[in-house]
Parts: sequence; structure tokens; C-alpha cells
Amino acid sequence: MMEKRVKLKKVNPCITCGLCKGYLVEATTITECLHTFCRSCLVKFLLENNTCPRCGILIHQSHPLNYISHDRTMQDIVYKLVPNLQETYEDDKKNIEKNSPDKEDNNDYHRLDEQVNVCLECLEINVLKSLKRKILRLSSQATVTHLKKFVALKVFGTIDRYKDIDILCNNELLGKDHMLKFIIATRWRLADEPLLLHYRKRMEL
Ligand SMILES: [Zn+2]
Ligand SMILES: [Zn+2]
Repeated sequence: MMEKRVKLKKVNPCITCGLCKGYLVEATTITECLHTFCRSCLVKFLLENNTCPRCGILIHQSHPLNYISHDRTMQDIVYKLVPNLQETYEDDKKNIEKNSPDKEDNNDYHRLDEQVNVCLECLEINVLKSLKRKILRLSSQATVTHLKKFVALKVFGTIDRYKDIDILCNNELLGKDHMLKFIIATRWRLADEPLLLHYRKRMEL
């Protein structure tokens, strides 16, 4: 066990994404320089850039997205090294499929699920008010949308405005259907609780 932990620390830089700092999810490699990132992080980056975020090499003048490919071997390595990441990722994917397009919450509070502590900090205290109680204890299956609704209720006085809230982890905007356990497994490297998240008023991108 001890040995495994030491090893994981050593290889961490090789199995994390330079863009989000989390463990690689859908590892995707640039064919020109063989640098690897999460698929969603890399695609988002290449919509506005045509160079590698790590080494700066020009991937392709106009169609950089044609020069990236899914890296199954790298993803297998990540899954082998990081306990529970694969199950968590697959659960999260199912949850996203289940929840899209927008569905109302069923009144299922997941009482029997594992609970996690989340700290919600306001990113722009001059725009939105801070929460009086920042630490919440929630099901690890609660989603980003649940957090948005909670924050909207506290700062706007109504959950109806939940779409006006952005939730971020390590400065990265979080997709609405991600579950807390997925965020903890992939984006939260300081494994001790609570998971620190930030909220802000939604920004038009
Ligand atoms: Zn990433
Ligand atoms: Zn590169």
C-alpha cells in the first residue's frame, strides 16, 4: 500500500493534464509532439489555438483538431494507477447521459450514498454575496446543477436562477452534470476534504 502511494506521487506528472491539472480523462495525444491532455480540455483549447499547450509546437495552421487522437494506452495506465477513477468516470458518464437533455430532479436525495464535504467560496465578492455557511455535506452523487441551485437560492433568493451561476474547481468551469465524486477523483488533487469550489455569476463565453 505504502509503496503504491509513493509510486503514484512519482508518476502523477505523467498522468495528469497540463490544462486542468486533474488526472487524464479520455486521454488524447497530439500526433505532432505526443503530448497528452484530457480530450475535452484539449478540444476546448484547440478551438482557439493551433499550438500544443505544453511545448508550443504548431500543430496545424487551420485544422489542429485533425491531428489529435485518443490514447487508449495512456488512459489504461491512468486507470491502472489511480484507484476507482475508471468506475467513477463511467458512473459520471452514465449520469450525464441520463440527465441530458435537461430533466427535472427527481426527489431522490441519495441518503444512503457516500457523503462528501464541499466548501463553496465566492469568486467575486463585489458581484455576488458570500455564503454564511460555506461548508456543505452532500451526497457524492450530487451534481454541479445541485450546487448551482443551492447557490442561486442563497444569493438570488430563488433556485430558478441557477443557470446564472458558474461553478469552478481550480479555475476550471465545471459541466453541469458532473457528480461531486467525479470532480473529487479527477480535479481535486489535495485528497483531504473539503473539496474547494468557487462560484461566480455566469459569464457569457
Ligand atoms: Zn484536462
Ligand atoms: Zn507538445
